Formats: sequence, structure tokens, C-alpha cells
Amino acid sequence: MDLFDSNSSERASLPRNMIENSMFEEEPDVVDLAKDSTAFPTFPALDPDEVTYEPRSSRLLVRGLGENDMDDDEEDCESSARLLGMSFMNRSSAHRSNSSPYTRQAPPRSCSRPSSRTIVVCVLFLVIVASVTMVFYFLPGCTFTKAGCRKPNKTNPMEPVYPISTNGDLFPWAQLRLPQSIKPLSYDLTLNPDLDKMTFTGRTVINMSILHSTNRIVFHGANINITKATFKLGDGQASDVTVLEYKPRQQLAVNFSEELKAGQYCVLTMEYSANFSNAYDGFYNSSYIDEDGNKRVLAATQFEPLSARKAFPCFDEPAFKATFLIKISRKKTYMTLSNMPKAKSTNLSNGLVQDEFEKTSINMSTYLVAFIVADFTPNTKNVSETQVSVYSVPEKNGHTEYALTITSKLLEFYNNFFDINYPLKKLDLVAIPDFLAGAMENWGLITFRETTLLVGKKSSLLEKQVVASVIAHELAHQWFGNLVTMRWWNDLWLNEGFATYMEYMSLQEVSPDLETGNLFLSVRFRALDKDALNSSHAVSTDVNTTEQVEEMFDSVSYEKGASILLMLNASFPGDQQFRKGIIEYLKQFSGLNTDTDDLWNSLTQTDKSTHHMNVSQMMTSWTSQKGFPLVTVNLMGNQVTLTQEHFLLTSDNTTHTSSLWNIPVTYVNDSCSLAPECRQVFTLKNKSDTFKLSKNVTWLKLNYKNTGFYIVDYGKDGWSVLTQALISNVGVLTHEDRASLIHNIFALSRLGRVPFRQVLNLLKYVSADTETSPVTEALLQLNNIYRQLEKRQESNLASRMKNFIMIKFRNLMANQTWEEEENVSKQELRSALLEMACSLNDENCIQQATSLFKKYMQSNGSLRIPGDLQQTVFTVAGQSDETWDALFNIYAHATYDSEKRKMLKGLASTQNPQRLVQILLSGLSGSLIQTQELPLVISTMCQSFAGCLFAWDFIQENWDRLIEKFPIGSFAIQTIIKSVTFQSSTQAQLNKVQAFFSGLKERGSQMRSVQEALETIKLNQRWMDRNLPTLRRWL
Ligand SMILES: [Zn+2]
Repeated sequence: MDLFDSNSSERASLPRNMIENSMFEEEPDVVDLAKDSTAFPTFPALDPDEVTYEPRSSRLLVRGLGENDMDDDEEDCESSARLLGMSFMNRSSAHRSNSSPYTRQAPPRSCSRPSSRTIVVCVLFLVIVASVTMVFYFLPGCTFTKAGCRKPNKTNPMEPVYPISTNGDLFPWAQLRLPQSIKPLSYDLTLNPDLDKMTFTGRTVINMSILHSTNRIVFHGANINITKATFKLGDGQASDVTVLEYKPRQQLAVNFSEELKAGQYCVLTMEYSANFSNAYDGFYNSSYIDEDGNKRVLAATQFEPLSARKAFPCFDEPAFKATFLIKISRKKTYMTLSNMPKAKSTNLSNGLVQDEFEKTSINMSTYLVAFIVADFTPNTKNVSETQVSVYSVPEKNGHTEYALTITSKLLEFYNNFFDINYPLKKLDLVAIPDFLAGAMENWGLITFRETTLLVGKKSSLLEKQVVASVIAHELAHQWFGNLVTMRWWNDLWLNEGFATYMEYMSLQEVSPDLETGNLFLSVRFRALDKDALNSSHAVSTDVNTTEQVEEMFDSVSYEKGASILLMLNASFPGDQQFRKGIIEYLKQFSGLNTDTDDLWNSLTQTDKSTHHMNVSQMMTSWTSQKGFPLVTVNLMGNQVTLTQEHFLLTSDNTTHTSSLWNIPVTYVNDSCSLAPECRQVFTLKNKSDTFKLSKNVTWLKLNYKNTGFYIVDYGKDGWSVLTQALISNVGVLTHEDRASLIHNIFALSRLGRVPFRQVLNLLKYVSADTETSPVTEALLQLNNIYRQLEKRQESNLASRMKNFIMIKFRNLMANQTWEEEENVSKQELRSALLEMACSLNDENCIQQATSLFKKYMQSNGSLRIPGDLQQTVFTVAGQSDETWDALFNIYAHATYDSEKRKMLKGLASTQNPQRLVQILLSGLSGSLIQTQELPLVISTMCQSFAGCLFAWDFIQENWDRLIEKFPIGSFAIQTIIKSVTFQSSTQAQLNKVQAFFSGLKERGSQMRSVQEALETIKLNQRWMDRNLPTLRRWL
């Protein structure tokens, strides 16, 4: 697709707010500073197809006037003036300046401190100007010009609005996305990291092909200082060139006085220096304390989404795929790793060693490049044609065995499932002590947190489940993402939705003992909760700023993406249909970039032969619009009426959407409700539809096992009948269906569709339920209400809610043992129940946990607390001063990371103000607590009222330092914002949150997570207003 063409076509439907530029455009005798060669450096004419437009929402840039030399006040004045028709003023005013109409000698000063007379004059003047502007608006812009109206087929493009480079020259590009005229083919990267000085130098050689004739090369670079650059065209001589930089968009460019002709090849060579990043992206340094207490330093990379440009100059967009040849120098005591196997090592004259890696055998996107300089040790095994190694710091090498085993199984599974072998000769999985994300799928060199890769020999299945899930996810990316890549970040879900879906799907086959089903079910519930908000977005959505790129890494791309793939797979008649389509898609687009339609087309093609479901038509309704449907069912004898509407939680009752989905509605009934064969499907495409059952039934349960991404309302009578059925026999529905009823009824109560009395009614059955997913869902929902009451300081109601929860689940809680438990599902149930019991101060629970912690301390590390009980035990230990200190001491010396994280949560659950502050500050400085754990610390503290107050103060005071570490919009920032706000429900809390975030302006006020937070608080507030009387009466 030609980006330029699409831009020039936008010219026709110019947005209304661009009108001043449009009028300006038609002015034949306005001096264009950019074209005035005497006033500005020479600058080649534009390729006609490379026309750009600066959106009004970004800073206004007047031609030739950089944004840097306009201060905010002036800009405000100038913008307002322009909106009121400055173009017209310039066009007709007798006071036009000699030099240019857009020099800044006379921004209307009345904007700053006007006298009343000035105001009157100004208002009169502006009214006149506005009226005349409106006349001009409706007349063709050219009516009053000397030249008159041009013929409509004029070819002159819209003038682009260019920014100013750091050196004062015009920067020849004005968009976030790079031009398409140059295609990088291969990179030679040489990197010389200095781990003592925390700096590195590099040399990047980019071989490129010229696709369209152009006068410039535009690419990316950030925080790198280019010291020398040469350019070579075809077989010509290399000559020095100047590299221009435009920092706000992290772009670099080289201008040429003569046009580079399409079809030619060229080479750009750059030498540069940079500091290691001290955040978690780019080429960053990290350290850890080894067994002997020595500090060890290492350097690693994290490039997705936008940080390859911080390590080397490059075309840093997923569609610019190329090959890479990487060389890294190191001290002899270190080792290096990169995507490809090492080809050779050379001793350098300065005593260092240079490792050279094989050139990548396949074209790949820049965000997948990776390299590491460290002193890790491997654990290796050959699987099919691939050498698989798991690397860790030397003392944790004993914790790599499980990862190696499960990776081998998964690799074989995927090779077979995708019918395409993993294409590289080696696959390294590396545990990095300091790592923000869970893991990163760099091709051939997957990086992990220690927690998500390492497990001790005695670890429980529940702990292994975490590691296996993350590995399964990252391995799936080697095909989905690495082999076939989304064209742009708007379709990130093609990477993440798929990898998330495959992670559950593959593990059900490869390691059914891990029982990932409950986890996937709860993930789908949370995705529904988030997607119900008005601030949600379509799975495939516009992405126009760097913050928006970061924000795509959210539950819609991951969990909703995975959920709709599950729904699609479940709606196919056989289990091979989906797989065939996927194989088709991967083979057709191997090594290329795609968008969402490509996937649906592949799946539609394979489906044609058997039954006629138009996948593309169905799935587009799920990826192109935000939210999901609420399906209301009405049963009359054997006649069923289904109605769909947008399930939209909004505090603004006037918001309505006319969205329609193509929903494969599944259902079971009272005579056949458990086995998969009971399931029947009706495709609901219209707002409402009716069908007949073969016989009369008492009830229907829709959305069998909750494989569909929608919520169901059964109506007052429908809910009562289902509740009665469950009260008389819990086993009348599958546990997934019971959990789905619980989730749906709470959601409907939040929507205001179902009275809370009805929710309590359904919960009557729950004491008899002993299965994990319905019980944990009910606990989560009730806990959320309890915490909200606590944070409103409704202490009386909160304690009644506490009693309610304890009464409902007391028997089940009392039945839990404190010994090792083998079954994953039972572990999940036990940990949820006991964590809840202890957090509600259940005496028996606290006593058991305390005594287990004491035994643990006395055993000096020989006793292991069962993995699923660790969180409960450490959280109880975190509550008393004496045990908190002991826990902190163990934490400081613990090496095993999954356990260590649970200790940290225990520590952060303290109510002691001094300790809360201590934890937050050491998390920020990264001294005793790694900064990567701050989001975890904050979300733990926010479980309690007091903890959350401290966390909130901390966030406000340290916001700038937080966004230095975690990019605006990133998942870490999303987590922090959500944690600190999602259980607030009062006007005072809303006001505080609103005041703080709106004051941030460009430092984060525009984030989607801020909108989500405000919306959530308003919804909580609405729910409380409506339901407090019910709670008072019934609890
Ligand atoms: Zn992923």
C-alpha cells in the first residue's frame, strides 16, 4: 500500500478545522518561507506524492516557523487568531508585513492583558472578522485572488508543514510514519559497549533500495550522537553527509541536492556514540548482586515497540524488514548473545574480543533485533534441527531445567501445528535480572524476567503454569509476529491476540496437567470488563502517536484478541478448520507484513469448501468496533427471541451506539446442558431475531462455556429459573457456565439492568459450589464491592459485607488444608479462598499462616511453604512489625524470584506508614527493591485503604520520575493508574484524580488509561448511589 497516495487523497476531504490552511493554500502571492531560498537553507522540491499534513491537534507549525521558537502563550494567541481567520486578514489586510505575513511581529497582544476598551474593540473586530470569514468559508477560497479560480484538476500538492531540525535547518519530513520511497535491505551493526562507563559506540551500515525517486532519506534515531556519516550511491564514491535530527519524533534525515532515482541502490554509514538507557528500553544496563555479594553488570536490549532507534539508527517500523549482521565487542570475562548463532570471535588490539554473529537468514523487523552482554551460563538441548538453550546468571542455572523441558515440548508442538518448522538454527531463552515486561519474543533470543523463566525443583504446578504460559506465548510469536508481522501497530492484536490464544491452546495439548482453562476463562472476563467502558477501543484501531503505540499493549489487543479467536475457532464445525486457515495464512505471508483483513481472508478461503460462514464478514464486526454485545434472551415455550445491543457501561446515559455484531450464539437447555454435543448455535446478525426449538424447554443457558465474547441477560424470570435450577442441583451446568452466570450478573448490575437483589439471589446457590472458576469469580466480585465500601469509609457496611462473604464461603475455607496439594485447580481455589479469609481477618486462617511462617523462619530455608500458600503466609507476615522485619530480611537475601515476588507483595501489604514509604522509595531508587516491581508494589498497596492513600501521594509527587522509567501509555503506567483508582467511588476521589491528571497536560493527561480511570470511578459512584440502600437492607 502506498502511504503517499492515501495522504494525497485526504486532500479532497479536508477536515473543517484545516480550513485556514486551505485558504492559505490558495493564496497565490503569500511568501512561503520554506521556498524562499535566500531566507532558508536550500531544500529540494517535494515529490508530488509525498505530501503531508500536520494535524491540527498537534502544535501548529507555520511554514518556516519551527515550533521551538514559539512560546505557549504566543501560540495560544496565534492559534485562536488563526481560527478566527488570520488567513483572511493576511489576504486582504493593508498592513501586510514586507517580509512575510507569517512573521510574528504582531500576534494580537489583546490575548494577554486587555483593557476593557480593547476588549470591546477586539470583540467588535472579531465579530466582523468572523462574519467575513464565514462568507469566505462558503465561497471558493480563490474568488478574490488575482489569479481567480484554478481549474479543478490542478496538480499542485498541498504544501507540507515542516518542523525545524536541532541544527536549525528544516527537517524534510512532517509525519510520524516514515516515507516509503526508501527500503532498507540489510544492516551491518558494530557495537562497542563499555560496561564500566555505561556508554557505547556503534557503527551502522544500511544498504537500501530506492523505490521512488526522492531527495531525502528519513529514518529513526533517539538519544544517539552521530559523529560521522557517509553516503554512497550505486558504485559511486562515498561522501560525507549531514544527518538532520527532529527530536520530538525521534527521526533523522539526510537531504540530497540531486534526486535519488528509483531503482538505484545506496549505502548510508553512520558512526555514533550513546549512553546506556537507564530505563528498561533500548540498549540498557542492568546489574545484580551475585552469591558472593559482588555487583555484576550486564547490558541487554528491549526494542519493542519503539526503541531499536535508541541503540542504532534504523527504519524503526515493523514493515521495514531487513537482514542484520551484528558484531559486538566485549571483555574476555563476558559473553554475548544475539538473534543468530555466533559465527566467529576475533581478538582486538585493545585486549577486547569481537563476536560476530551469522547474518540473519530471514528478513525481520527492527523491534525483534536483540543483543546481550553478560556473564550468563546456559543449559542446552537439541530439539529437531534447533539448539535450545536457557540462560541465567550462573547461580540460578539449577532453576532452568523446567523451562528447557517445556520449551522443547512446545517447540515440537508448534513445528507440527503450524506445519512450518522454526526457521533458525538456535533458540535462546534468557532470564534477565532487571526486565520490565514479562518477556520479549526477539527472534532466536527470547528475553524474560527471572520470575517468568526460572522455577526451582520443588516448585508447584501453579508456579510452573506461569512459566509455561509465558514460554508458550513467546514461542507462538516466533511464527505470529516474527515470521508474519503486522504492518503497523494498529493491528498489534495480530501478534498479541494470537500469541495469547496459542499460549492456552498449546498448553492444553502439551501439558494438560497445568489446567490453564480456569486462567483463560478469568482472563476473558477481565477483557469483557475493560471493553465495556466507553473509553475502550476497537481491536484494530488508529495509532497516530508514540503514546498510542505504547497504549496498544493492553488487554484489548491481548485478551480480547485471544477471546475472539477462541470464539471463531469454537464456531467452526471441526477442530482442523481453524488450524488449516492459520497454516494457509502463515505460508502465504511468510516473511511479510499483514493487516487484519489478510487473516480473515485466509480463514474464509479455507472455510468455503465445507460450510458457508463468511469469516471476514463475521470477524470484522468484532475487530472494527469497540465493545461487545449484550444478548437478551426471551423464551416462550419453544420460541426464542434474541436481541442484541452494545453493552456499554457509561455514566453518560445519552450515549448510544448502533453497533451490530455477527454473533455465533451458542446455547444448551435443561434437558441437555453439559456435554459438548448439547451445544447448539444460532447466528445472530440483526438487532433481533426469533427461532423455534424442537421442543419446549424450562430454561436455556447461552454462551456455552463462555467461549463467546458477549454477555447475556435472561430477563427477570429467566434469571430466577436458572437460579432455582442451580439451587436444586449445582451440577446442572458446567463450572465455566456457572462462572459465566456469576460474571454476567455482576456486569448487568453494574450496567443498571439487573437489581442487586437479583445478584444476591443467584449467590444463594454459591455456598454449594466447590469448583474453582465460579468460586473465584464470586470472591473477586464481592471483594471488589467490599474494598470500595472500605475506601468510602462505610465501615459498618464494609464489615457486614465481610460477614456476608465469610458466611457464603466459610465451609469451603475451613475445608482447605495447609499441606502440599498436587492439583492445579485445587491450588488455585485454595489460594483464592485462604488469601480472602486471612485478608478478612479470619482468626483460624491467620493463626495457621502465622504458625507456618514461624516454622519457615526456624527451618532456616529447609522448609518450603507450598507455592500456592506462600502469598497468604507472606501477606499475614507483612501485617505485624516483628514478622515484617524478618520477612524483609529473608527477602533481601532471597534469590529465587517467584517466591521473592510473593514476599514483596507481603511486605507491601503492611499498614505501617513508615514502611509503606520505605518500600515505595526504595522501589523508585531501585536499591533494595527493583524499580521494575513498582507497579506490583503499588497494586498491592492499593488493596487497602491506607496503603492506597500513600501510593496515591507517592504517584503524584514522583510522576515525572515514574514516566522516566516507564513510558507514557506503557502497560506499567496503565497498571499504576488503574490500581490507584479502580476502587474509588466518591465525588471527592473523582475530583482529586481528575485534577491531578488534567494538570499533567502532555505528561500523560491524554492517556486512555486516565479516561478509563475517570469513567470507572463515575461508574462505581453510580453503582453505589443506586445500591447502597439494597446493601443496607440485605447484608
Ligand atoms: Zn506477546
